[in-house]
Amino acid sequence: MRSTAARPRAPLAQPPTLAVYVHIPFCAARCPYCDFATAPATSRLRARYLAALAAEVRHEGAALGRPRARTLFVGGGTPSLLEPDEVDALAAALRNAFAFRPVEATVEANPATLDRARLRAWKRLGITRLSLGAQSFSARGLRALGRTHQAEDVAPAVGAARSVGLAVAIDLIFGWPGQTAEDWAADLAAALALRPDHLSCYPLELETEREEADANWPGGGWPVVARWRARAAAASPDDDAVASRYEEAERMLRRAGFRHYEIANWARPRQRSRHNLAYWRNEEWVGLGAGAHSHLGGMRSRNPAALTEYVAQVERGDGRLRIAPGAAADNDEATDAAILALRLDEGLALHRYADRFGRAAAAHARRGLRSLDGTGLIRWSGETARLTPRGRLLATEVFLRLLPDQLGSP
Ligand code: SF4
Repeated sequence: MRSTAARPRAPLAQPPTLAVYVHIPFCAARCPYCDFATAPATSRLRARYLAALAAEVRHEGAALGRPRARTLFVGGGTPSLLEPDEVDALAAALRNAFAFRPVEATVEANPATLDRARLRAWKRLGITRLSLGAQSFSARGLRALGRTHQAEDVAPAVGAARSVGLAVAIDLIFGWPGQTAEDWAADLAAALALRPDHLSCYPLELETEREEADANWPGGGWPVVARWRARAAAASPDDDAVASRYEEAERMLRRAGFRHYEIANWARPRQRSRHNLAYWRNEEWVGLGAGAHSHLGGMRSRNPAALTEYVAQVERGDGRLRIAPGAAADNDEATDAAILALRLDEGLALHRYADRFGRAAAAHARRGLRSLDGTGLIRWSGETARLTPRGRLLATEVFLRLLPDQLGSP
């Protein structure tokens, strides 16, 4: 990807209200399907990384005029691996840099890594919600995904979160090698039995492009991961079976009282992820840490995913940390906003879209979506377009119609 250094930002007259994402890259082991910026928990860079992260938090807070952190999401990696004193240091950095009164604060956890001392530290930081990467309740499924936790670890982790008053979100993966329809129905039933507030269900997606974060891990590196992915892809259910799994999730979770509010996300009433809604509504957020993305002042940018590069750049303090995606390689702001809006059950309201991006952009989006009339992928209510259940399955086909070069630029 073509990259350029982001322009330095002038301090803003009015401190903004932001969603804040903090990336903790460390994991006990590497799951071979994962493309997030991760590194071994024992990395000799761990202390330097956390110091660099605190420095970046300070720097961004000052550059943005000490904005209000409306939501916080601490993701990874496995943030639940942090020691209580490391969590306390992160909390102090966030409170100094931001007006820190989040309406929602989430930490991601691996089910095997939670203990009371750590949970108490996260509570001191102000966490309101725990996002548990359960992925499957089948021993076969967890082995197929290369996970290190056991299915039996999930219920105690949910119980521990509930005992300190946290909302609980559970992540599941479907379409893993060898997964049957019965396996998936059993996974959904096991997750529902734990009475979560929120569920995310993602199909297993196996990228075949080498990732920048691969450099963080010792051992066989990319060739080993690539071989694992090739074998996993060959043993995974076909597209029709994966589509059936998705439809089964829609059926079971609807019956259980969940609202399907985003392509891969379901929530009980008033339990949608406010932080992730800020992404899908194309609002402003700052991402802190290796590989973290930001959307500020209408510009997307990201930090380097390789730990050594991230740490070295923060330590140099040369103000050139963020990489802005090259304009030629990425969608423009209006296209991103349209695609993100369609992911949500709220849909794309073209009159509001025109207010924000102009009549030409709205006309372009309308043309692209109207070209799908008769396909059953889009449902219109006045000037608002929403994906149908079939449209959610084939969302990429819909999103392609919104790209500037499909029907002529807006
Ligand atoms: S624990 Fe999560 S973040 Fe870490 S390697 Fe596995 S899937 Fe990726």
